[in-house]
Amino acid sequence: METKQFKAESKRLLDLMINSIYTHREIFLRELISNASDAIDKIYYKSLTDDSLTFDKDNYYIRVDFDKDKRIIKITDTGIGMNKDELEENLGVIAKSGSLQFKKDNESQDNHDIIGQFGVGFYSAFLVAKKVTVISKALGSDKAYKWESCGAEGYTIEETEKDSVGTEIILTVKDNTEEENYDEYLGEYRLKEIIKKYSDFIRYPIKMECTER
Ligand code: ADP
Ligand code: MG
Repeated sequence: METKQFKAESKRLLDLMINSIYTHREIFLRELISNASDAIDKIYYKSLTDDSLTFDKDNYYIRVDFDKDKRIIKITDTGIGMNKDELEENLGVIAKSGSLQFKKDNESQDNHDIIGQFGVGFYSAFLVAKKVTVISKALGSDKAYKWESCGAEGYTIEETEKDSVGTEIILTVKDNTEEENYDEYLGEYRLKEIIKKYSDFIRYPIKMECTER
């Protein structure tokens, strides 16, 4: 397995983002849920023209799980998935994100809440995660792949097993520091609060196992 480098502009942006945008860390979940929703949209639109594909609403959802002890948050979707090339293309180049264009288009805006105004995209996962693992199986593919990265240094891709089409994003949450408390994201109350705040309008069910009230 070889480690590949992010493209230069990606590395710079990633460093910049992780180091300078320290407020609003919570938006990582909005970004990942919106990507999950986009991925389900893609299957839905495909089903409109592809007769071999039926879109049964009940089979399409987003799920958020967490494990406090393992320090993991997992976002699962039953969307269109990514093959090996797509994982590299889409997650290996920050500038690919439609978000940057959006930022350019909105340059004049007051940037006191800039991160709340444009999507920073997939890389916002690194606002809370020290390691991001993406396991994905693309629609129409019989192979699944695992993409993994600990940040600006690069990423690895290898073949893996996954039964169903879709994507799992597994965040290994950073350890607390004196300035930052990351543990809060490993709790049901906080996660629910963030989902309600930013993802209330998502058209697909967002499932989460609930124990607290
Ligand atoms: P944007 O959503 O603005 O395109 P992101 O950085 O959020 O930028 O995501 C980059 C790309 O990675 C997406 O456009 C999509 O192609 C791919 N991607 C990210 N998350 C998923 C997912 N859960 N399922 C399928 N593709 C995804
Ligand atoms: Mg996005």
